[in-house]
Amino acid sequence: MSKHSSPVLIVGSVAFDSVKTPLGEVDNVLGGAAVYSATAATFFSPVQLVGVVGEDFPPEHFDFLRSRGVDLEGLQIQPGQTFRWKGYYDFDVNQAHSLETHLNVFERFRPTLPDAYRDAKYVFLANIDPELQLEVLAQVRDPHLTLCDTMNFWIERKRDALLEVLRRVDIAFMNDAEVRELCGTFSLIKAARQVMSYGPRTVIIKKGEHGAVMFTADSHFSAPSYPLEAVKDPTGAGDTFEGGFIGYLAHTEQVTEANMRKAVIYGSVLASFTVEDFSLDRMRRLTMAEIQERYREFRRIAFFEAA
Ligand code: AMP
Repeated sequence: MSKHSSPVLIVGSVAFDSVKTPLGEVDNVLGGAAVYSATAATFFSPVQLVGVVGEDFPPEHFDFLRSRGVDLEGLQIQPGQTFRWKGYYDFDVNQAHSLETHLNVFERFRPTLPDAYRDAKYVFLANIDPELQLEVLAQVRDPHLTLCDTMNFWIERKRDALLEVLRRVDIAFMNDAEVRELCGTFSLIKAARQVMSYGPRTVIIKKGEHGAVMFTADSHFSAPSYPLEAVKDPTGAGDTFEGGFIGYLAHTEQVTEANMRKAVIYGSVLASFTVEDFSLDRMRRLTMAEIQERYREFRRIAFFEAA
């Protein structure tokens, strides 16, 4: 990580996850959209985290985030329990089945940005209540690039607030099922155009193990997926992808089409590691050398000769 990189401001869930997949099961492990994306972003840039945990959040999780270069001044500790999510995956690793979502301390959370965070240039509104995403956006003075993500839970419960978020961000991320649900169409092209008509100039659709597609008004970039033999736990793949994407852009400070394509690949590389183990366990031991090597493999996978 370069000392000169711009910090990335991230708001989103900080969670205890309980997850079952065909390859195993874990209970109350560290998770949450903000945690996955912050950890991924720190491979390139420092992170300022906005969120809330309960008094049950153990010191080792704070220590882990601090050790990664995550500033925790914006992470509130409130009386009560940390956000909890419970879900499972069958053999279709693209489809998370939510069993339980307990907002807990997120229900009464009001984000207040420390003054230093208000100058953030790179802002990622990770998955959480869109009303909270809006409150964070309102407190940032002059952002250079704003991104958002969401999920079916919020599409179904807070659609108007979500549309307001979309009006205000530069780039929207969604997975294929979510964008179809939001736009009421099977066609990803139509759905991407519809989302762009709400506000964002770029829409990035995550297709799980089938890669990702980046749409702008006049371009379309298709990132390959990495052929993994075993996906142990797909949880957090999307958040990791987005954290890697914005971390790389904040580090290079170049929001050009060519650089965004590189950022999509770095995001895909990081996500391909996250799913190799439960929780953040693979990212805890991941090195920059492994990231660069897999980046080169992505290039080889996607290469083809001219006609
Ligand atoms: P994904 O990258 O889509 O696999 O995101 C997985 C993470 O989303 C998990 O670590 C969960 O804690 C978190 N999550 C699940 N449901 C919600 C929700 N309704 N709002 C915010 N975060 C959630």
